[in-house]
Amino acid sequence: MPRKRPGALRAEQSLRVAWGLPPERIHGLSARTSVAIDRVERLSGDYYVYPGATDRALRQYRAFLQPPGRRPLYPQDVECSCRGCSFDDVRHARDVLEEVLRQLPPRPRAQLQRQVRALDAKYVERTLPDPFAADRQWRSDLWWRRRLAG
Ligand SMILES: [Zn+2]
Repeated sequence: MPRKRPGALRAEQSLRVAWGLPPERIHGLSARTSVAIDRVERLSGDYYVYPGATDRALRQYRAFLQPPGRRPLYPQDVECSCRGCSFDDVRHARDVLEEVLRQLPPRPRAQLQRQVRALDAKYVERTLPDPFAADRQWRSDLWWRRRLAG
């Protein structure tokens, strides 16, 4: 199935809002949690958190961990820091998930957190620690940014 472009997704999402329809349900999450996430995304003052961003972040995180086998995976730096291109760096996807988790009320947060934790466990397994992260990594206080990058 062809993936929708983020712009198209965003347009569709705002049409749903205009028509008073509930936001599209995010894969693996309840309708109630999807509504709570949509609310956070629409009200967030964070440039990187916008309608559809959580869904995109989850997809990017899953896609990064997709390659089968035990070969280590390396997050990649991206050239462009706009909110579209930034998602090509899995660490950015994880940043967005963290921000949304922080802003969600407890119940939807717990549900999203279960998904994120499962992906985090795989991420730790498939990436390597970077002993020099403190010197070369932006926001090295975030554990997912203390992994070796490609
Ligand atoms: Zn860009």
